[in-house]
Amino acid sequence: DFEIVFAGRSNVGKSSIVKALSGRKVKVGKRPGVTLKPTHVKKGELVITDLPGFGFMNGVKERKQDIVKDKIVRYIEEGNQRINIAAIVVDAGSFVEVVDRWDQRGELPIDIEIFDFFTEMDLEPLIVVNKMDKIREEDKDRVLDAIIERLGLFPPWRQWIDRVAPISVKKGDLQALNSIIRKRIHSAKRDSLL
Ligand code: GDP
Repeated sequence: DFEIVFAGRSNVGKSSIVKALSGRKVKVGKRPGVTLKPTHVKKGELVITDLPGFGFMNGVKERKQDIVKDKIVRYIEEGNQRINIAAIVVDAGSFVEVVDRWDQRGELPIDIEIFDFFTEMDLEPLIVVNKMDKIREEDKDRVLDAIIERLGLFPPWRQWIDRVAPISVKKGDLQALNSIIRKRIHSAKRDSLL
């Protein structure tokens, strides 16, 4: 099997992505922070894992954030050999603003901590930028450059087409993500033959 894991702030559309990729019913719009367990959906040879969401919403307490972060780190550490793709999902409309607000307080958002952790684990994490439908056509390149820059990658984003997937589940446009998944499965299979 081939496993892809999704991490991200609550409400970025993780459940919607899992649903769109798998064609299966999963709970969308569930209260953030309710489930601490990763959920799995199978689609052919692909196992899609939705890691618990983080973020301060609906009175989710700060201590609970640490528990969520811990669960994610532990899941990745234990499954590192098995996990083929790790992706962080961000909201195209709010990510930069959230990061900069945290930055002004001298804090590092969990998204970035998790992304850095995935990188340290040699997972070459994907940046899935969902809700691209919220961004005007003429602003798209600028917004994507700003997002990847916050995550420590150098713009222009187009030189990272194997790492950055701008999508809109709402518009049914998951092409950038699907194409990266296909490529990674292909090279994993090739590597296993060597
Ligand atoms: P999760 O908490 O990350 O699992 O997010 P959900 O999948 O539950 O989605 C959160 C909200 O974002 C829901 O109201 C979705 O309908 C909405 N949403 C998901 N994908 C998109 C998208 O591509 N564009 C827009 N505008 N909204 C989206």
